[in-house]
Amino acid sequence: LCLLAGSFLTYGQQSPNQVNKDEIERKVDSLLGLMTLVEKVGQMNQYNGFWDVTGPTPDEGDAAKKYEHLRSGLVGSMLNVQGTEEVRKVQKIAVEESRLGIPLIIAFDVIHGYKTISPIPLAEAASWDLEAIRKSAGVAAQEAAASGINWTFAPMVDISRDARWGRVMEGAGEDPFLGAKIGYARVKGFQGDDLSEVNTVAACAKHFAGYGFSEAGRDYNTVDVGTSTLHNIIFPPFKAAIEADVKTFMNSFNELNGIPATGNRFLQRDVLKQAWNYQGFVVSDWGSLSEMISHGYARDGKQAAMLAANAGSDMDMESYLYVKHLEDLVKEGKVDEALIDDSVRRILRVKYELGLMDDPYRYCDPEREKTVIGSQGNQDLVLDMAKKSIVLLKNETDLLPLKKNGMKIAVIGALADDKDSPLGSWRLAADANTAVSVLEGLNSYKGNEITYAKGVDLITEEASFIMETKINTTDRSGIEEAVEAAKGKDVVLMVLGEHGFQSGEGRSRASLDLPGLQQELLEAVYKVNKNIVLLLMNGRPLTINWAAENVPTILEVWHLGTQSGNAIAQVLYGDYNPSGKLPMTFPRSVGQVPIYYNFKNTGRPTIPAPDLVFWSHYIDESNDPLYEFGYGLSYTDFEYSNLRLSESSFSGDGSITVSFTLKNTGSYAGTEVAQMYIRDLFGSVTRPVRELKGFELVSLQPGESKTVNFKIDRELISYYTANDRWEAEPGEFKVFIGGSSNATMEIGFTYE
Ligand code: BGC
Repeated sequence: LCLLAGSFLTYGQQSPNQVNKDEIERKVDSLLGLMTLVEKVGQMNQYNGFWDVTGPTPDEGDAAKKYEHLRSGLVGSMLNVQGTEEVRKVQKIAVEESRLGIPLIIAFDVIHGYKTISPIPLAEAASWDLEAIRKSAGVAAQEAAASGINWTFAPMVDISRDARWGRVMEGAGEDPFLGAKIGYARVKGFQGDDLSEVNTVAACAKHFAGYGFSEAGRDYNTVDVGTSTLHNIIFPPFKAAIEADVKTFMNSFNELNGIPATGNRFLQRDVLKQAWNYQGFVVSDWGSLSEMISHGYARDGKQAAMLAANAGSDMDMESYLYVKHLEDLVKEGKVDEALIDDSVRRILRVKYELGLMDDPYRYCDPEREKTVIGSQGNQDLVLDMAKKSIVLLKNETDLLPLKKNGMKIAVIGALADDKDSPLGSWRLAADANTAVSVLEGLNSYKGNEITYAKGVDLITEEASFIMETKINTTDRSGIEEAVEAAKGKDVVLMVLGEHGFQSGEGRSRASLDLPGLQQELLEAVYKVNKNIVLLLMNGRPLTINWAAENVPTILEVWHLGTQSGNAIAQVLYGDYNPSGKLPMTFPRSVGQVPIYYNFKNTGRPTIPAPDLVFWSHYIDESNDPLYEFGYGLSYTDFEYSNLRLSESSFSGDGSITVSFTLKNTGSYAGTEVAQMYIRDLFGSVTRPVRELKGFELVSLQPGESKTVNFKIDRELISYYTANDRWEAEPGEFKVFIGGSSNATMEIGFTYE
């Protein structure tokens, strides 16, 4: 048993981070040389843990069988095992009872926090604060690692332009530039500077690729996108993840232009492993090998295994098809053993880098588990992240910030008293009901009188990650009480939006309105008191036209995690001045979706033109969004001026600098996300009307101003051209500077 541990599986006295890459390669090769084909295939197999979310698995079924497979070296990784004790249990079997004693890599969906929950990723993206986002991922990594986990299935870097898709909550929104920066920050946050440090976990860029473009926003649906969208919109955040040294990729449930991502050789071999020279490994999505049969791409499990292995899927999550068929497929000459070796090398490499081969139990320290999880430091960091994620959408009266004393406040909405919803979707390890609710946050300020009324329910049954969350509630009986509570109050805080499980995987919506009877509640309250501050708590952009027209003040507070209520209260009371900007367009109506700021012009105008009968518009809706990408207000005002360029042209590897003055002209200190957009006027492929190409968070005291500079170089104006190359084309460009994607201050330059 564990024959070779002494000679091959240890670094001796050397600490893991001193072991250089060559050393790891040498060790990987030696170990590979000792493995049988069956053991190699075992490394490519990933099992779900023993708390089985879907019940007994199809044929490999029961726990006993899985334990047996661990013993026979048939398992390289497990997911959904958590806690030092549980992890130690499975690790011990793999290490002490299998022939080679190769440790498991333990995976978990640590998406926005482990026990201490950060805002949902879409909310974090609204902060545009890369340092805060990196730290937030660091908190998640630290807590997960303390609980025995060494690999997170995050970040999701799928760009999406479709708010109907429930998983927009899990990404960074619609823009590839912002998405790339955030993807990079998240990978760095999870993996730290040195993966062999025990408070880090390997990250996973997912879902490769195109998952965010599922037709009509219906989860798992067909994806059909052209070359330009694929390279210019979908790929950049994945490339950024590689620049951040992301250790793994996950492929995807969807097909891309007719080929399921899991069996897609173009994506996994030609692009990822060849063109981008990626050295990490690719895990399939949950059961996505088997799903190729339903797609109508693979005839049966055996063919699915063959297609996936040949296409470059290195690890099979929960289809059991590699363990069942790969050995035969190799023997029959249908899969080259060299490909198996390549996959296993990639997997072992990460295990070495994590230091698991040195000490398989290094993540299993129950003492660390106790002290790290939920620490005050972590609470402080997620609170900071939560405040930075809030977006002020409308502030037309002086209702906000609230006065700290002497006010009579009504708080209305089931979400105000909800300690679970703010945790959002994808917080598998968190204990239920552990968020600070809005009411609790408000009650920590003592000077005002608060009356609460629920109004209406959001859901009819208890919701959970794996249960369908019912939206339709019909009980109006609480509306009257809410209306009474609102009467005569100085301000009414209405907390409306989506339950935490109304977004996320499998939670597509065909309507983007406030679910259930909430709109009716809002209008009923408005009739008796117009001093409403609407707090929108949701996992995706919503169509809130009526509110945007009538309600004087709107704050987008998303699902902000454990510290939700505290963050919201601090913003309401002006102890924090909101600075978030939307990472995704808010449509006026669902019929506009997909709607995004970096669209392209057509041959027709979007407004009526003389001599033109038909133009590009809706006869029943405007083309404009309700709130555009990059939009968000502050309690103070900012003024942009004095836009200038260092030169009006550049060529080759040169660069120019755009400068402007940003001034705080209001009476509160505040932070503005200054944004630069560029338009390429003509291209070998038609170009978007503008693209985000720079942003900076600028903090200013009242009356203070600063000069802000952005550099423009060749890389910044490069794109995937008609030559099938990432390159810059000579031509004319326009720069737009401002506080949203509607920025109007502009200046031109040429690239020669
Ligand atoms: C999701 C992945 C996730 C995996 C494992 C799948 O359903 O698409 O994003 O990592 O499950 O839980």
